[in-house]
Amino acid sequence: MSDINIAEAKINLEKKGFLDLGIDPTMDVFAEIERLKKEKNAIVLAHYYQEPDIQDVADYIGDSLGLAQQAEKTQADIIVFAGVHFMAETAKILNPSKKVLLPDLKAGCSLADSAPADLFRKFKEKHPDHLVVSYINCTADIKALSDIICTSSNAEKIIESIPVDQPILFAPDKNLGAYLNKKTGRNMLLWNGACMVHEIFSLEKITKLKTRHPNAKLIAHPECEDPLLRMADYIGSTTQLLKYTQQDNGSEYIVATETGILHQMQKASPEKHFIPAPPDNSCACNDCPHMKLNTLEKLYLCMEYEAPEILMEEQLRLAAKKPIDRMLEISRAAGLIG
Ligand code: SF4
Repeated sequence: MSDINIAEAKINLEKKGFLDLGIDPTMDVFAEIERLKKEKNAIVLAHYYQEPDIQDVADYIGDSLGLAQQAEKTQADIIVFAGVHFMAETAKILNPSKKVLLPDLKAGCSLADSAPADLFRKFKEKHPDHLVVSYINCTADIKALSDIICTSSNAEKIIESIPVDQPILFAPDKNLGAYLNKKTGRNMLLWNGACMVHEIFSLEKITKLKTRHPNAKLIAHPECEDPLLRMADYIGSTTQLLKYTQQDNGSEYIVATETGILHQMQKASPEKHFIPAPPDNSCACNDCPHMKLNTLEKLYLCMEYEAPEILMEEQLRLAAKKPIDRMLEISRAAGLIG
């Protein structure tokens, strides 16, 4: 690769979101990533919704809670975060002395985007007596405006740890918030945000699918809408869904969440059959378009040239860290993490 090409790719980085460089087609990208991990003391953390090739090169694969914990405790010098922007931000917030790389800076999140900080600040000001609990799928600015962060794995325990007479404002996911209200008997005030992937499932198509596969169990993520959750045999975070399919004695599952998790489900239980819940149209809309912006090639390039990097002002980082620390503390006390 010539120096001119790299310099140009770095100039275009902000516009494109990634280093737009060609790779020798004969290169063994898997082997190169392994070499770079050793040479640079780098760790690859990947979300379950990443494409299978990325999951296969990752040192750790998990959901938001597990990834945050790994990011906090790693001794590596470089964290390569194969996920979306708010997750890489969370890694930087928790471990600022590390260089945090994201293969494509434009890997955003429709749910995080549904809570712009200026509007959320005004909303919060109208409810000064409310404690703000935010789902981790939000920007660092929203985290900084929150009292406690939660993930889908620990949300119930976090809500239960708050005194019943304390009013709560929950953001940004209204579906997860409504599900938690039902589970905990609380009446949290909900910000009106949602994830485009989890709202796309077709109830009609799922019903037909269940007729064709009468023994298949419907398992769903709590970011899905209430009518779907009511039909589900099991509801849980991505990690909980994976564990359920390993421990349950069923043999067939209709999976209502992003399709990336099917790779780990199939690997863990090769004898079982997993069917992605169909979306409301003919496209693959239950593939998160943001997550899938990361590719193995972009992952390799960001490791080789150490860009794009996540940078953050220290004042924002400290303000965003407080509610995450609170979440980790409550999760530890509840025995959810080690
Ligand atoms: S699946 Fe939904 S919540 Fe998760 S990153 Fe994609 S848009 Fe965001």
